[in-house]
Formats: sequence, C-alpha cells, structure tokens
Amino acid sequence: MRTKRKIILIFFGPPGSGKGTQAEMISEKIKIPAISAGKLLREEVENKTETGKAIEKIMSRGGLVPNSVIEKLLFKRMLKKDAARGFILDGYPRKKSQQDNLIKKLEGVTGQKDKIFAVLINVSDKEVKIRLGGRRICACGATYHIKFNPPKKKGICDLCGSKLRIRADDKPSVIADRLKIYHKEIAPIIDYWKKSGRLIKVDGERSIEAVHRGIVKSVSALINKIVSG
Ligand code: AMP
Repeated sequence: MRTKRKIILIFFGPPGSGKGTQAEMISEKIKIPAISAGKLLREEVENKTETGKAIEKIMSRGGLVPNSVIEKLLFKRMLKKDAARGFILDGYPRKKSQQDNLIKKLEGVTGQKDKIFAVLINVSDKEVKIRLGGRRICACGATYHIKFNPPKKKGICDLCGSKLRIRADDKPSVIADRLKIYHKEIAPIIDYWKKSGRLIKVDGERSIEAVHRGIVKSVSALINKIVSG
C-alpha cells in the first residue's frame, strides 16, 4: 500500500468508536502520520500553555474549542515534513464551518481534491456509552478498559504503576452531551462526503482487527485507483 502520491484520509465516528486506534493502525500501514485533534489539544492542556489554560474548562465539559484554536495547531501540524506524502485526520472536522475551512486549506495543500477520502466508523450510542464509561487512562499515555482491557492490578497502570483515572469528558453526563453534539454536527459533514462519492463506511462494532481489515481493504482499493488513475 505505498504510493508516492499524496493521500489524505479523514476519519469520522462517534467518541469511543475507536477511530483514533484505527487511524494509528492505518498510519503504521501506509506510513503517513495520524494527526489527532483531541491529542493536539490535550497536549496543550497537559503542558499548561496559554492555549491549554484557555481551553481546559471547555474540554472537561466535552464542548468544542473555538475553530481558531484547533485550526492553528492542526494546520501547522499538517505542514510538517513527515506529512509530505499525506496524513490521516482524526477528530477534525467536527462541524460544518471546520469542514469548509479544511476543504479550503486542502485545496492549497494538495492542488487536487481527488485524493481526499472520508472513513466513517459506525458505532451505536449504546455501545459508545459502554466503551467510554469503562475507559481508564494513565498520565503516561496508556489506556485501559475495566471490562475489555483491564490492567493487571485494579486501578493501577501496568506500564508505570501510577493510579489510573477517568478522563474528565468520559463521565456519563458528559458522554451524553458529546454524543448529542456529534450527531448534530456530523450529519451535514458526512452528507458532503457521501454526495461527492468519497465516503468509506465501516461497521465499528467488530474486533479492532476486523475493523482494521475492513478499512485496509477499502483504502487499498482507493489507493490503487488513485495510482492507476
Ligand atoms: P477527542 O479526543 O477526539 O474525543 O477530543 C477530545 C476533546 O477535544 C473534545 O471533547 C473537544 O473538547 C476537543 N476537540 C477535539 N477535536 C475538536 C475539534 N475538531 N473542534 C473543537 N474541539 C475539539
């Protein structure tokens, strides 16, 4: 699955759909970086930068940070050398105005819209609540799930021995709000990619490997089409 031409994949899916994990796996496979909007923002908060201090509250409530904040970080990241052959976006765009800004930006970066595709990982709200409600994280970056991927010792990180915690935006009331925002904002965005024939839909309620295989198959077919087209 290697190509010299630039490919841009935009991953969509509700919180907890595993899109971050899948984006990383595809990144490994086709050797282009996965850029996570949430991760870029969390780094600002953890590093206590001016931006981080300004967005901390919004993020802990599960709200969306202003476009200007995420776009400044993201557009800078997209221009780094390692993204020259393309990149994968995870968590952006999340609303119509971001989508419009991204399309404008990509026109400048790629010169051709043809190599941009959207990957939608479908997961029901019920499943999202189970997945996120049981997620536990560690300051070292490790993540666990109390049922699907528990640490060896309850509440303690296997890797560094620190106490695990619940992400502020994984609390049940916040999860419900995040899902509401997701459905409202994402529908018109997905519609755009569907109408332009660039949408790959994947059933996200399978094993990580099965979802990965599904994405690889569709993405490979696209890359072959691009390379030969
Ligand atoms: P995620 O890791 O994708 O679940 O994102 C975590 C949090 O970061 C979200 O709940 C938002 O507060 C913020 N965030 C992530 N992506 C965006 C975005 N595209 N626009 C605005 N806020 C975002």
